[in-house]
Amino acid sequence: MSENTIALVTGANKGIGYEIAAGLGARGWKVGVGARDEARREAAVEKLRANGVDAFGVPLDVTDDASVAAAARLIEEEQGGLDVLVNNAGVTGGMPQNPTEISIDQMRVAVETNVFGVVRVTNAMLPMLRRSSSPRIVNMSSSVGSLARQTSTDDPLAVGPISVAYSPTKSYLNAVTIQYAKELHDTNILINLGCPGFVATDLNGFRGVRTPEEGARIAISLATLPDDGPTGGYFEDAGVIPW
Ligand code: NDP
Repeated sequence: MSENTIALVTGANKGIGYEIAAGLGARGWKVGVGARDEARREAAVEKLRANGVDAFGVPLDVTDDASVAAAARLIEEEQGGLDVLVNNAGVTGGMPQNPTEISIDQMRVAVETNVFGVVRVTNAMLPMLRRSSSPRIVNMSSSVGSLARQTSTDDPLAVGPISVAYSPTKSYLNAVTIQYAKELHDTNILINLGCPGFVATDLNGFRGVRTPEEGARIAISLATLPDDGPTGGYFEDAGVIPW
């Protein structure tokens, strides 16, 4: 993929998203920092630029139709197109996460962000991606969305804590991504799911064991796939994740 590649990373102001932006920028790509908070967005853009990345800010709340439409317009007008979309923004929905105590509002915010947000942003960006010579879409999932892993062990907590607002959104995102891969199979768009591993970020109170830079690796490799790369797949650094 050429140095003229333009990418958008959602939720790129911190955590794994920031490191995905840094990693793609290090390849000489122009990277849009999609973020809802102006101060956090501009701080990330400045930090990336200070590290030599050709970064630009994209005001973006993935739960808001108008915000997403405005982001697509801004990229079209200021950059003239988009080649790579990394749907990284995500939330847990907060605590508690056990099904007997969950509030429906928690589940709603998690699904609105982690699933509907991805659909909203993807569909807004698709007209630009369709014009690209090497379009890629990466959806940040998690291995906790793997139903196979969660049901293949006698220890139900071996694949992560109980999280009824969060984990099912990643299973849902996986299912949605398969449908995109089916619809887009006769295009040059490659769309894949990545799991970053258990990464120390705000999302888990920094309890993760991997660094955000390590967590960014899978998304960077899926964003930079060759034209004959896979589509509709579910990957972590070690390889394929069972559905
Ligand atoms: P962080 O909490 O550090 O970052 C999440 C990012 O998403 C922030 O930039 C946040 O912005 C943004 N975001 C949340 N809601 C919205 C919204 N409505 N519109 C725009 N941006 C939004 O989490 P991580 O870096 O850990 O997570 C990144 C992705 O990786 C998520 O999809 C997560 O589910 C996934 N993941 C993470 C794992 C981990 O161990 N950390 C494990 C498996 C998957 P703001 O600063 O404004 O809140």
